Amino acid sequence: MAKCFISCVYIVFICFLASCSEQSIQSSVASSPGHDVWGHRPGPRGFTTVILDAGHGGKDSGAVSPYTGQKEKDLTLDMVKRIRAELSGDFRTLLMRSDDTFVELDDRVVQANRSGAAVLVSVHFNSGPSNIRGPETYFWRVDSHGLATRLQRAMVALCPAQKDNRGLVRRRLRLTRNPEIPCVLLEGGYLSSPAESRLVADPLYRQRLARVIATAIRAQSASGDSGTGPLPPPIDAPPSKGSDKRQ
Ligand SMILES: [Zn+2]
Repeated sequence: MAKCFISCVYIVFICFLASCSEQSIQSSVASSPGHDVWGHRPGPRGFTTVILDAGHGGKDSGAVSPYTGQKEKDLTLDMVKRIRAELSGDFRTLLMRSDDTFVELDDRVVQANRSGAAVLVSVHFNSGPSNIRGPETYFWRVDSHGLATRLQRAMVALCPAQKDNRGLVRRRLRLTRNPEIPCVLLEGGYLSSPAESRLVADPLYRQRLARVIATAIRAQSASGDSGTGPLPPPIDAPPSKGSDKRQ
């Protein structure tokens, strides 16, 4: 009986803790930036460091446009340099790679975790059926939802998504689950779409895209999650591995 009572008290205590953490997650108050293994917290406000990750590189070209011949790895490097220029003065920016080198995904996670109060933005371009176009944004952690929402909204305002575009997606990837800081992965458009591929080939368009991405990052630092809608539920999922099936 005493044992049962103790375990009941314990269960009530655990439930109390669980409801407290749920309330704090649902709170509209932004969390302070910094490391957090799970990311079950509101998005950061007041961060001053942004890690920009140019997807692919070196032996890994990523997608290749069948229309312009441009490689995703070159376009992503070009984009992170443009975003860095747009953020300069207000933020310390770190580039995961600054030239055409291959960096393993797990090493990118290690690099991301070396910085304190930072956010990570991984930049990619997409590939799929030729009728799909428009930007997409991937996140997993609760504390990355606000930034992902801002980035997706900003990019869609510049380039409206079209049929079958996935939009804002919660997906457990190595660069959305494994870093211990807020992290998002964006796809700046489909290189497999003839129209979008030509758009992305234009440096003026890439500059506009970089500008709206920088504006979204700045807004997240200034306002936290304010105006980005309800937070998604926390999910205790294991780190993503290379052997995982695509989810
Ligand atoms: Zn990619």
